[in-house]
Amino acid sequence: MNTNTNQEILIDVKNCQQSYPKDNNSQLIVLDNVELTIKSGEIVGLLGRSGSGKSTLLRIMAGLLSPTKGEIRWRNKLLQGPAEGIAMVFQSFALFPWLTVQDNVQIGLEAKRVPKKECQRLAEEAIDLIGLGGYEKAYPKELSGGMRQRVGLARALVVHPDLLLMDEPFSALDVLTAENLRTDLIDLWVEKKLPVKSILMVTHSIEEAVLMCDRILIFSSNPGRVVKEIAVPFPRPRNREAPAFRQFVDRVYTLLTQTISNNFEEKNVNTVNNQSPFTALPLISMSLMMGMLEALLAEPYSGKADMPQLAQSLQMELDDLLPIGEALQMLKFAVMAEGDIVLSDLGKQLVNAENEDRKRIFRHSVFKNVPLMRAIRDVLDERPNHKASAERFRDELQDNMSRDYARETLSTIIGWARYAEIFDFDEEADQFFLDKDDKTIHD
Ligand code: ADP
Ligand code: MG
Repeated sequence: MNTNTNQEILIDVKNCQQSYPKDNNSQLIVLDNVELTIKSGEIVGLLGRSGSGKSTLLRIMAGLLSPTKGEIRWRNKLLQGPAEGIAMVFQSFALFPWLTVQDNVQIGLEAKRVPKKECQRLAEEAIDLIGLGGYEKAYPKELSGGMRQRVGLARALVVHPDLLLMDEPFSALDVLTAENLRTDLIDLWVEKKLPVKSILMVTHSIEEAVLMCDRILIFSSNPGRVVKEIAVPFPRPRNREAPAFRQFVDRVYTLLTQTISNNFEEKNVNTVNNQSPFTALPLISMSLMMGMLEALLAEPYSGKADMPQLAQSLQMELDDLLPIGEALQMLKFAVMAEGDIVLSDLGKQLVNAENEDRKRIFRHSVFKNVPLMRAIRDVLDERPNHKASAERFRDELQDNMSRDYARETLSTIIGWARYAEIFDFDEEADQFFLDKDDKTIHD
């Protein structure tokens, strides 16, 4: 275990905030009160949902974006502008197609006024290190995705940065390629061959974080900030199949779902108290929810599944699985706890029901648990023409969440409303409307 207690602090993020202007003169706060410290000699993972502001934070830490509030201290000095000693690897490879591998890597040194011969030597060294020896003269289009990402890594490593920031570096790669690259990186780290002191990597895979990191920071959404820290106690190399490893992955799942459930409950309490129907809903279709419920009810799970296992068997990542679990929990079809997801009695009824019954169960649950659905339907019932502009609801949503979330939330609501025959939506007129077949809550 790497405790790092006496280690030098490399970067210190203090009370950092990032907001963007919204249409209506207000600010969308993406990051708020972010606090984190990276010491030398550690690999730290940042685990959070998509859209929570992880990439934004990385850009701030690299000095590419200056925060609206707070400060970053890099090697004890205030960070202002792109920092010497910090390099970044992006999810997509960001290579120049017209440059060879060698030149793509050397670009990393260009700003540094290193003599040409030295540039070449350093680039060759980085290329060899990362397993691309012999490909110096190849062009990106001649390389596989995995090799391109290695070029991206070599470009970051060529400057021998103290801090390497990696933004979902494996998520654009296929499973095997990603695993090879992870293993190679960890081997190099263990053998102390990587010319870096520390790594901060963003991921949305819990397994990846537990496999690679000394510490995992859990990031909340809306606004993004570090809400929990977990030290990973295993020496390297780590064995994914070891029971202790599996248990630990479960524990991280638990912490993560707790964090999410807490957020969720807070939001729902607000909604009840203020009669304000503005909870963000992830983009979840009926078929996704029904697919997951059916998988849950079937063998081998019979109503209760370990989330990492379920994710694997459905070939999903955390980012896909958790929002579905969250939606099922909100609708009272399932409960997430301790890294498990458990089908409720209502959930079982839903899966076992057919067509109209299924719709009826779903409709009742949606009416009861999704205030926004109720609010839209109430307006439609009150209006003589049974029509209502979506604009107003979108605006109100946007006072509480980003434009993207507002759009997703409405799409989800519309999908569910259509399925449950609560109301319909006219895209062209941007209007909700009641169809003659639409049901009421009493149907
Ligand atoms: P993550 O990497 O965790 O998926 P991002 O940092 O990419 O999250 O984005 C976080 C939020 O900030 C998103 O809601 C995104 O729409 C918003 N955002 C990012 N960059 C900008 C920008 N330049 N202007 C407005 N909003 C932005
Ligand atoms: Mg990102």
